[in-house]
Amino acid sequence: MKKHLILLGAPGSGKGTQSSRLKSDGLIHVSTGDLLRSEIAKESELGKKVKSVLAAGQLVSDDLVVELLKTNLNLNNNTYIFDGYPRNEKQAKTLDGILEGHDYLAVYFELDLDILIERITNRRTTKDGKHIYNLISNPPKVDGICDVTGEPLIQRNDDKEEIVRERMEVYKNTIDPILEFFRHNDKLATIDAQQSPDQVYKQIIEKL
Ligand code: ADP
Ligand code: AMP
Repeated sequence: MKKHLILLGAPGSGKGTQSSRLKSDGLIHVSTGDLLRSEIAKESELGKKVKSVLAAGQLVSDDLVVELLKTNLNLNNNTYIFDGYPRNEKQAKTLDGILEGHDYLAVYFELDLDILIERITNRRTTKDGKHIYNLISNPPKVDGICDVTGEPLIQRNDDKEEIVRERMEVYKNTIDPILEFFRHNDKLATIDAQQSPDQVYKQIIEKL
């Protein structure tokens, strides 16, 4: 599979879950949210700058995020899944520029936003965000423990209902021009993200 994938969709629409599956097809998952949370955990200068922005459910500045993204890419050798980037039209244009000369497809995870609060408030992950569970639809075998690594599972600070509602507002206010940009460039595929994880994965593979 040589196409880079850009996953677009609301918080909780299943982008991270599908990225875990797509990794076994040889793609590398790059999530700007995970990168930012890792900087916060390290208490780096960048982490200190962005901590309160994530806690409030707002977007970090474009310049900070694109620098972080670029330092984590090696387009000569790898095919990527972009998860969480772009978050606005400017970032969409920036990513299109970064990927110039490379084939890519943007996949829009379409679903009814009303189901998302429940999905996200029941999300639990490992500290690095790489293993994702749901207390209702996909619980771990042992309460609070990752099946794969044995680590304790955590709830992200911004997965509390009040902040989730703020993140949804940000999403609703920014998604349309992003979709329009990729549609206009004939790079957009839409999938029904309300189906089971297996069905969603199947749809993505069909689009490729
Ligand atoms: P995103 O990366 O888009 O924020 P996640 O992949 O972390 O979303 O999924 C959010 C929550 O929804 C997680 O708890 C996950 O287990 C659950 N989930 C993911 N995909 C599905 C699906 N197709 N059906 C039901 N629950 C799902
Ligand atoms: P996510 O893990 O994608 O849900 O992102 C969590 C948070 O990280 C968001 O609410 C933003 O505060 C920040 N963030 C992640 N990606 C970006 C981005 N591309 N641009 C700006 N902020 C971002």
